[in-house]
Amino acid sequence: MRAFTYERSFSIEAAAKAAASNSEAKFIAGGTNLLDLMKLEIETPAHLIDVNGLGLDTIDPTPDGGIRIGALVRNSDLAAHETVRRDYGLLSRALVAGASGQLRNKATTAGNLMQRTRCPYFYDTNQPCNKRQPGSGCSAIGGISRQLGVVGVSDACIATHPSDMAVAMRALDAVVETVKPDGDRRSIGIADFHRLPGDTPHVETELNPGEFITAVTLPPPIGGRHIYRKVRDRASFAFALISVGAVIQPDGKGRIAVGGVAHKPWRVEAADAALSKGAKAANAALLASARPTDQNKFKLDLVERTLGAVILEARG
Ligand SMILES: Cc1cc2nc3c(=O)[nH]c(=O)nc-3n(C[C@H](O)[C@H](O)[C@H](O)COP(=O)(O)OP(=O)(O)OC[C@H]3O[C@@H](n4cnc5c(N)ncnc54)[C@H](O)[C@@H]3O)c2cc1C
Ligand code: SF4
Repeated sequence: MRAFTYERSFSIEAAAKAAASNSEAKFIAGGTNLLDLMKLEIETPAHLIDVNGLGLDTIDPTPDGGIRIGALVRNSDLAAHETVRRDYGLLSRALVAGASGQLRNKATTAGNLMQRTRCPYFYDTNQPCNKRQPGSGCSAIGGISRQLGVVGVSDACIATHPSDMAVAMRALDAVVETVKPDGDRRSIGIADFHRLPGDTPHVETELNPGEFITAVTLPPPIGGRHIYRKVRDRASFAFALISVGAVIQPDGKGRIAVGGVAHKPWRVEAADAALSKGAKAANAALLASARPTDQNKFKLDLVERTLGAVILEARG
């Protein structure tokens, strides 16, 4: 691990200012992703701004009937929160499908959104990787790609976003609230928060350098059956090969977002509209633009079958 300096921030303004004054600084929350990346020297921040003292750890009602989740709410607390379990069951189920109890006790809402890919070549510093070292090439294209993306991919990168929580938030139309280093605040819809890889796979979100996530808001509850199905190589403590997050109404209409297939949680309006026609129609709309590799084309069938299982479960 490279040497770094460390400070603890006690106000959002101080954290934003500290980020603005040092272009090599990074925020640290639960540390469950960042510290691993620092130990492998994949991330080498010169300065860490510890944001755990900011107190952004509450879940509060919003005036319109939704909820506002502080950036530092731990994944365990979010999953167990009474309102979340009752009105946003999809989010609760997606969270408990992720990582392990110990990790969820440390992992935060913002850190989970910002976690980096699990592409094996991203972690192998002996291999070219455009995301880790822009311009060096992509080892996964033509390499081992079983776990990687099938849709929204580019010639520079076919990585996926690993978060379960973000898939649920995509289906629930979450909005990410931020403060920029100059103090300006803004709200970014979750659909626009994560980027596709294009020619710049190292730029993963819409955040500007030093921009800080303060909260995530969810609109008022929409009812329906909330289902999260995660398909993985072992029953626990594994990232999704694919996952389906769905909210399905009694008339069969609903929303679906899929994980493990793209650089961001994947949702397509036409697939929502096709959901009541069945899994085949919804899958065709979801993955119409798919460009799988030989090793991961099985994901196309896997998503369709998982969608079928979700629809059956919703019908009881
Ligand atoms: C063994 C293992 C298994 C896992 N399995 C799963 C799984 O199955 N599913 C899943 O979804 N996840 C899984 N995870 C990932 C885990 O969920 C993430 O590591 C965790 O959510 C990151 O949160 P954190 O608070 O620890 O982030 P940190 O490690 O502290 O930070 C991660 C990134 O977020 C940035 N950041 C943190 N807070 C802010 C903020 N407020 N504003 C802007 N940037 C910020 C940091 O600068 C850093 O770049 C696993 C992790 C491990 C180690
Ligand atoms: S898929 Fe992306 S993360 Fe993986 S090796 Fe290629 S550029 Fe790197």
